[in-house]
Amino acid sequence: MPRGQTPRQPARTGRQDKVRVARTLLSAKAAAKTARVGTDAPVRPAPKGRKKAAIKPSVSTPSSAKPKSYNPLAPDRVAEILTRLNQLYPDVTCALTHKNAWELLVATILSAQSTDVNVNRVTPELFRKYPTVEAFAALTPEQLEPDVRSTGFFRNKSKSVVGAAKKIVADFGGQVPDEMEKLLTLPGVARKTANVVLGSWFKKADGVVVDTHVHRISRRLELTKQHDPQKIEQDLMKVIPRDKWILFSHQIIWHGRKLCYARKPKCADCSLENLCHAADKTWSTVEMHKDAKA
Ligand code: SF4
Repeated sequence: MPRGQTPRQPARTGRQDKVRVARTLLSAKAAAKTARVGTDAPVRPAPKGRKKAAIKPSVSTPSSAKPKSYNPLAPDRVAEILTRLNQLYPDVTCALTHKNAWELLVATILSAQSTDVNVNRVTPELFRKYPTVEAFAALTPEQLEPDVRSTGFFRNKSKSVVGAAKKIVADFGGQVPDEMEKLLTLPGVARKTANVVLGSWFKKADGVVVDTHVHRISRRLELTKQHDPQKIEQDLMKVIPRDKWILFSHQIIWHGRKLCYARKPKCADCSLENLCHAADKTWSTVEMHKDAKA
């Protein structure tokens, strides 16, 4: 383009403006028509003879089925634990030496924080020296202390034994009562001791003995998550059939003595091993659960 000339500009007639306005109007009409179709447009009836397709319920196929979640209290699992305990410890009974209900009561009181072996060393001489409940009732706790000293906590234990003897003579005619409520009125007797006497001597299943072994092992086997002995007992009473309560306690106590130690349990020798997910196992073929520990 030669210098000094400017390019030609569109004429200012307003013709282009009119075209622009017309185009805007046309596109606005088209938009309105589209909107009507989507909202207020009359619905055309479906042709006769054609039915709506039924909605089929979704059918879960085996491949989509969820795997069953692990339930430590499943009846099958609990039954298998009981079966294996029966095979391991078929005829176990109370390990405390005794000849009658009173001697068993005394031995059980003395066994707190002690071992059965230790108690069995003390009791033969003790019962020779004081052969009846009346003989114990005639003592003061201080007089009994030297005889039970080696079992530990001897002052409290002496008080409990002499107190229980006095109450049995005074209130129960010299006979150890065979009811839970009455046993619980004796000094030094809580549910554990009462369950030992009721189960082992009177053969009454009023509860489950929860001593240190039952406490530890029932938690390892995930039969309870509780720490409190009374709550553990309640949990065990729910999952163990009543006719197994007495034997189950004996078997678990023996298991605690033979294999399932508090420290370094002998898991490699334990026939419950593949049912046990305890976090503190020393050897395992199954997944271990962090909540399952002593
Ligand atoms: S596998 Fe181990 S922790 Fe579990 S019950 Fe047996 S000895 Fe106890």
